[in-house]
Amino acid sequence: MKKKIKTQCAECSFPPFERICITPGGKASKGCPTIGKKTLVKRAKKEYQANPTAEFARQASIQEGECYSEREKRPYVLHPIKPRFLEIIEFAQKMGYNHLGLLFCIGLAKEAEEAAIVSQLFTNHGFKVTSVVCKAGGVPKEEIGIKEEEKIFIGGHESMCNPIAAFYTANSYYSWLNK
Ligand code: SF4
Repeated sequence: MKKKIKTQCAECSFPPFERICITPGGKASKGCPTIGKKTLVKRAKKEYQANPTAEFARQASIQEGECYSEREKRPYVLHPIKPRFLEIIEFAQKMGYNHLGLLFCIGLAKEAEEAAIVSQLFTNHGFKVTSVVCKAGGVPKEEIGIKEEEKIFIGGHESMCNPIAAFYTANSYYSWLNK
């Protein structure tokens, strides 16, 4: 039986611009999905042809390009000019979104404070924001099989991280679940 080679893009041995996924005719490491997963890539390509994914991918690519300056210069040297936050705002505007979901981690107090700042910044830019913390629901860790000695606060209540509930809460797509 032919041995399956695992995909390991994280360990690709070539510099980015020498790779076949970046440069046509470029090099490929062992298990390269660009070479070995053509059917899968074709299937994904088909999905990008149907809206709303098609428009989402197109606008995301336009946004990516607009985050670099002097793109007409040759030879070109990558020159990023926009912070991620601005990228998100511009992309959301391009897509016509007016309501954003902000999911954040309570684990780092600093990040929780920053979530309030980020939420305010989005609001200042005219977006309605629904923000949900990872611990939403307050579900005890015991419910996912965690033993007392596996908790941080041994002997006390400890809420599990609940990204699924956070996602459902923040995403208006799933608003029917709130009923
Ligand atoms: S797709 Fe291929 S060339 Fe690109 S990083 Fe993965 S292994 Fe390397």
